[in-house]
Amino acid sequence: MSEPIHVVCPHCNAVNRIPSDRPAAEAVCGKCKQRLFTGEPVALTGQNFNKHIERHDIPVVVDFWAPWCGPCRAMAPIFDRAAKELEPRVRFAKVNVDEEPSIAAHYGIRGIPTLIVFDHGEVAKEHAGLVRTSARFCGGRRVFVLVCGDLPRNCRHVK
Ligand code: ZN
Repeated sequence: MSEPIHVVCPHCNAVNRIPSDRPAAEAVCGKCKQRLFTGEPVALTGQNFNKHIERHDIPVVVDFWAPWCGPCRAMAPIFDRAAKELEPRVRFAKVNVDEEPSIAAHYGIRGIPTLIVFDHGEVAKEHAGLVRTSARFCGGRRVFVLVCGDLPRNCRHVK
């Protein structure tokens, strides 16, 4: 028996426990009954940011962006596609730095887009600038890819 994993609901921010032997992609929130994974990045704000980065037992990849930023708009479809491909092994989220300047300041975001991978609230990996290729999961627990080229050798692993 493996441990259940904690997942924060993107709709109501309730912390759910999912048995690790059940398909998480189909799991629904115990509180609001909506799907815990929608294949879309979750918009984080000052209200739910800490809860999402701290309470998930899966890595949380956060895209710091702004609507006026061209490279951010260019990256959006790549990020969306990564969410579709990699959930429920990774949670994808976005922070609009114009609306949430205090979060951006806390993490010293100087340029956007910047991606930060959080592992139980800790910064596990940071990448500034446009991600040109789709992210890929390279397998293994807590071993995953933030930025990845077409070749697996280009993967940048955490730990
Ligand atoms: Zn919910």
